[in-house]
This record gives sequence, C-alpha cells and structure tokens, in this order.
Amino acid sequence: MDKMSSPKRLGVLTSGGDAQGMNAAVRSIVRTALSRGLEVFSIYEGFQGMVDGGTYIRQMNWDSVGGILHLGGTILGTSRSEEFRTRAGRLKAAQNLLDHGIDSLVVIGGDGSLTGAFIFYQEWPGLVKELLDQKLINLGLAEQHPKLTIVGLPGSIDNDLIGTDMSIGTDTALHRITEAIDAINSTAASHQRTFVVEIMGRHCGYLALMSAIATGADWVLIPESPPNIDNWEDTMCKYLKAGRKAGRRDTFVVVAEGAQDRHGNPITSDYVRKILQEKLGEEVRITILGHVQRGGAPSAFDRNLGTLLGHAAVEQVISAEAAKEPRLIGLRGNRITDTPLADCLEKNRAISDAVTAQDFNQVIALRGDHFQEAFRTFRTLLRALPHPPEPGQKRFRLAVMHAGALSPGMNTAVRVAVRYGLDLGHILLGVRNGFLGFAMGEIEEMNWMSVNGWAPRGGAELGTNRTIPGDSDYYTIARKIEEYKIDGLLIIGGWNAYYSAYRLLTERPHFPAFNIPIVCLPASIDNNLSGTELSVGADTALNNIVSAVDKIKQSAVAQERCFIVEVMGRYCGYLALMSGLATGAERVYMHEEGISLSDLQVDLENLITGFQHGKRLGLIIRNENAHPIYTTDFIRSLLEVEGGGLFDVRQAILGHLQQGGNPSPFDRSFATRLATKCIDYLIQQTSLNSNKSAFIGLQGKEIKFHDLEEFIRMSDEPNQRPKDLWWLSLRPVADALAQPKLASLPSDL
Ligand code: ADP
Repeated sequence: MDKMSSPKRLGVLTSGGDAQGMNAAVRSIVRTALSRGLEVFSIYEGFQGMVDGGTYIRQMNWDSVGGILHLGGTILGTSRSEEFRTRAGRLKAAQNLLDHGIDSLVVIGGDGSLTGAFIFYQEWPGLVKELLDQKLINLGLAEQHPKLTIVGLPGSIDNDLIGTDMSIGTDTALHRITEAIDAINSTAASHQRTFVVEIMGRHCGYLALMSAIATGADWVLIPESPPNIDNWEDTMCKYLKAGRKAGRRDTFVVVAEGAQDRHGNPITSDYVRKILQEKLGEEVRITILGHVQRGGAPSAFDRNLGTLLGHAAVEQVISAEAAKEPRLIGLRGNRITDTPLADCLEKNRAISDAVTAQDFNQVIALRGDHFQEAFRTFRTLLRALPHPPEPGQKRFRLAVMHAGALSPGMNTAVRVAVRYGLDLGHILLGVRNGFLGFAMGEIEEMNWMSVNGWAPRGGAELGTNRTIPGDSDYYTIARKIEEYKIDGLLIIGGWNAYYSAYRLLTERPHFPAFNIPIVCLPASIDNNLSGTELSVGADTALNNIVSAVDKIKQSAVAQERCFIVEVMGRYCGYLALMSGLATGAERVYMHEEGISLSDLQVDLENLITGFQHGKRLGLIIRNENAHPIYTTDFIRSLLEVEGGGLFDVRQAILGHLQQGGNPSPFDRSFATRLATKCIDYLIQQTSLNSNKSAFIGLQGKEIKFHDLEEFIRMSDEPNQRPKDLWWLSLRPVADALAQPKLASLPSDL
C-alpha cells in the first residue's frame, strides 16, 4: 500500500431501497477504516444528505456503529434523491464533501445508486473546477482533491446487479418469503387450496425463482421468462390439474411483481387468481408479501456478507486500484471479488435493453449461469410427473441415502435427487436409516410423489445415523447392492458418510459389489468436510445460533453482563467463528487455536477495562471442543470470580436447537444445486461403466468434484475436519471489528 496516497477521509452512504445487512456493512466500513487510520464520515439519507450537507454528514467513531448488526434497514437512512440526478445537485454534493475534506466514498445501493455514484465520479474534476471558478472553494482545496474514489457495494433485495452472485439483503428477503410460504403451506394443504403469492422484483425474477425452488412451488412467473406461448394460461392450468391428480394437496403459484407475457403485457397476481379460479373451478387466495420482504432482522448470511464486503471496500479505498477507477465489491461463489464498476453497470444496461427489446433468451443468458441453471431445475421439479424414459434408454438404478448426523437441507437434497433422476428416466431407490438400514435391506423404490412436500422440511425423512459399517457389515451391504441391482450410490451426509464411503472403496478388492460409482454430498452443520468450503445445513445452524444470540444479547443489556455461548461444531470452529462474526462477539474460542491461560487473562483484563468504562454487554462464543479443561463452565466461573462483581457472567449452551428447524433458503438452494450435479455425475460414470467415486463441494468460485480416494489425504483425520480451513483467514476481520484498537475503549458489539 502506498501510504502517501491513502485517502484521509472516507464517506459512507446507503442509497435506494433499504436492504438488511446494510448496517453490518456500515459497521464494518467504519471500524475497518478507523483501524486502518482513516477518518470516516457517515452521510445520512443517501445522496440527498450529501446534497444537503450540514448535519447530514457526521464523523463516526468506534461506538457510533455499536449494537447495530442485528437491525434491519439502514441506520444511516436512505432516500431517492431527484436533486442528485441533476448536475446542480451534484455540484452541491461535491462542495459538501470538499468542505469536510472527503474525496473517497463507499456507496451501498442498487443499480440506480451505483449509476449515480459513477456519474458523480466522472464529473468530479469538472465539479471541482466549477466550484473553484465560482469561488465556492479555494485553490488549495481543489488541488488536494483532484479525484473522487468510489467503491460500490451491492445492496438490493432484488439481486439484480451484475458483478455479484448475491447482493446485501437478498438472502434475508428470501428468508422472509420462504417463512411466509412455509407458513401458508400447512393451511393450503389442509384445505387443498390454491394460493397465488406475489413476490417483489419489478425487473428481476431472482427472488421469485429462488423462493419457488426453495418452497417447492408449482409454477412461477418472472419478468425474464415470459411464457413463450399465447395460451400460457391453459398450459399452466393443465400442469396444475395434473399435479393435483398425481396427489398434491395444495397448489402454489409464485408471481414476481414484474411478470409479463411475451408481448410485454403485465401478468398480475390478480389476473392469475382469476384464471385459476375459472379454469380450476376452485377458490384461489392471493398473498401479496409486500414490505414484509424488507423487514426483520438480517440473516446470518447478510450480516457476514455486509461485513466482509464492507471490510474489502475499505481495503480497496486504501489500495491503488480504486484510485484508478470505481470498483464494485461482490461475491462469486464463496469469494469476495472486485470488478470495475463501469463493466457491471454496462452489463446491467444490456439487460434492460434486452428486456425492452423483449429478447428474453438474452436476458436469461446475461443473468448468468446460476440463474439459468436454477430456472432449468425448477422446470423439472414443478412437473406433475416425470418425462417418460426415452424408448430403448438404459435405466440405471441409483440409490440415495444419508449417513452421519442430521443436517437441515437433507430432505431438500433427496427430493431434488429423486425427481431429477426420475425425470431423466432412471430408477431411484431410497435407503432408510443410513448404513444400518442398508445392511438390513431398508431399501425402497421412490416415485415422484414419495418426495412431495420435502423441499422445506427440516429433519431427514429417510432417516440417518452415525454408524460406520464395520467388518461384518460389508458382506451384507454388498449383498444388498447386488440384490437391488444398485448401479450408483449418492450419500448425503457428514463426516461419517464420507468416511464410510471411503471405506467401501478400500473394501473393493474383497467385495466386487462396491465397484459402483459413489458420490458424497456434504450435509453437516459443522461444515467440517474436505473439498468444500460450505456444507448443506451449516447456514441454517448459523441462523439458529444468531437468532438465539440476538435474544440472549437483549436479555443481557438490562444489566452489565457477559455471556459465554457454547456452539456446536465438534472439532471445527467454523460455526463459532462465523456466528461470532455475525453477532459481533468480542472473543471466539475454537479448537483449532485452543485456549491458553494467558488468553483467558488478557480476555479478563479487556472485559474489566471495558466494563469499568461503561460497557454494558460482553459476548464470548466458544466452540464445544475448544479446550478439554477450560470448559464453558470453567470460563464462566473464572470470569465471574475474577471480574470482582463488576459484571455478571452467564453461560448458554445452545445444544440441539442448532440442528433443528426448516432449512434456510441458502441451504435449500445449495442442496438443490449439489444434488442435480451429483445425479449427473452418477449417470455419467454409470454410462461409462466406471466405478469412479467422488465428493462434491464449493471451492472458491466453483462447484467441483474430488476423487473419493483423496478424502483422507485432504482431511485432518483425528480431528475430523479438512486440512485446509479457509475460514481461518476471516479471523483477523472478526477480531478487527469486534475489539477497538485501544483495549480501554468500551464497545457494545
Ligand atoms: P437503487 O439504487 O435501489 O437502484 P434507485 O434507482 O431509486 O435505487 O436510485 C437511488 C438514487 O440514486 C436515486 O434516487 C438518485 O438519487 C440516484 N440515481 C439513480 N440513477 C441516477 C442517475 N442516472 N444519475 C444520477 N443519480 C442517479
């Protein structure tokens, strides 16, 4: 970093539609900037505050952004500013920034806000000159700030920005939508009703499409993909009737706000209701979710996304890159990326042009691979019955099972695997109760309706257990593979699933029946599996922890209190670290780092200093196996005794609530993506007569397969976790944001 060129003063603002997670981003920007020696100013009420200046621009300190991680919306306020759309408005904004010596901005918003920011950047030298000519600023000031540095963060529930897979706020909106649809589901099924649910998204159907996949809806209408026929109403009703005939007890049609037909005429939820009522001859209810979608506490994903993007934004401001041209910080797969903002805005414009030209294939193509893939998958899942097999097609017999501990999202994965495999013409078998059930022959053929309603369901309908097959089981399992003529095996589960699959491989010389392709899909709340940075279920567990900690924190502020919260994860600190990041815990203990006596001493001193200076709340998160002797209870007693009555200490061991509940939208969508790819893998290997076996996962920006033989080499076997712990690199961010630079400053998270 070139220290001389570091901007001294940074402004941050939120603009356009509010989105949950914006506060996490603001907190992260302010605290990262402070810890990197910058001065940081918040600009309230979006661009309008920048135009109005005065008290709308305020310097921030460490505590200005304390206690905001769990709040929805944006504490900075946001607005739509007509004045900023004019050059005169932007001239005033430039003067206000210069008056405060600010020439770097992080703008959090959607396409409109980032377009406005980009125009401001382009005009800046001209605006400075005009202010100088009008003697509104002096030459010295003009010379000190010849350029404006802009870094954009995507903040929009619609997820309509190119340059990121996810925008801040989208995941939380999906939470609100899936919670609402899951809730209506039970009443709809009881009365055999049809529901039309209208979802936000005027130009982008992302929320509608992903929530339709996540909830197992029966039809979706989105702006990007108008039905390509004029009598689409008949086709829709034909499918829905067939679904009912096949045994579905309810019907859900998801309509995006901006849905349209192929002539560009809007398709409203009311129109869909009328059609369904007429053609299906039953009462149809509409639910318009409206602003509920923007409401509530941000999800764990959005808190961490806001935090990590905010941190990266400040690093960009400091680096030479952002000085050259505005950048957009985004997320690709599991990586924070940065792209020239100009490129992203240009692609967004290309999408709007394609929509105007009604070139819908181009729109879907420009939305990216993930969107296209999701749309294809949805079209398979919504079918009333699978396509019949092609004449003469070889139909493989593919078995699906779980092993290891329960993880939310297992049902979603099975549903997708079964329906996707059936639709491709194959025979799908369900193995109940893990390897124990396998050995006992608890195996049955699955049909399309066997997995009906499984998409949103927590738990594991097929059953799972942790048993790893022992020497005496191999023979019986091999016999069952032969008896049921199993051609390929998908195992959805955690460490024990992977380990058992690996053991079957090593037993191949003795049991030729094991020479079938086997593929493992990571499903573990602990997120402790090699070859993947994320596993199905970990996001749900994180959300369970975060909402529990939110409540615990509320209970603690009434009096000076420090909480130690113990979370699961076995020997893997992922849940502890990520929940610490999402809740602003000031200390996270995990097995990878252990706990030493001197750690405890430093932490105790920090707590004492903090509480002496007005701190009201302390939060420590401890991974269940962080240390065999310094247990949660031990630490609680130690802090209580040594804290000398300055603060109370309480412990909360969260236990099995972490594994429960319906899977989060992220876990449902991740399970869906992985399951289709695993079935493709099995079909491909089986068609080649290959016994190649693998485990799938997300690494960096991509979903990849690793040879199953590599499992042990890639794992830290005694601790049952991967050797490569990518998330440890986030530890410095968590530390930097939770602790003020001077330990003597109080900080309420
Ligand atoms: P979003 O950022 O969520 O897309 P909007 O499109 O409403 O929201 O944009 C937010 C604000 O960004 C607008 O009120 C306006 O102040 C500013 N803005 C949008 N487009 C432009 C533009 N072309 N030029 C200048 N400012 C713009």
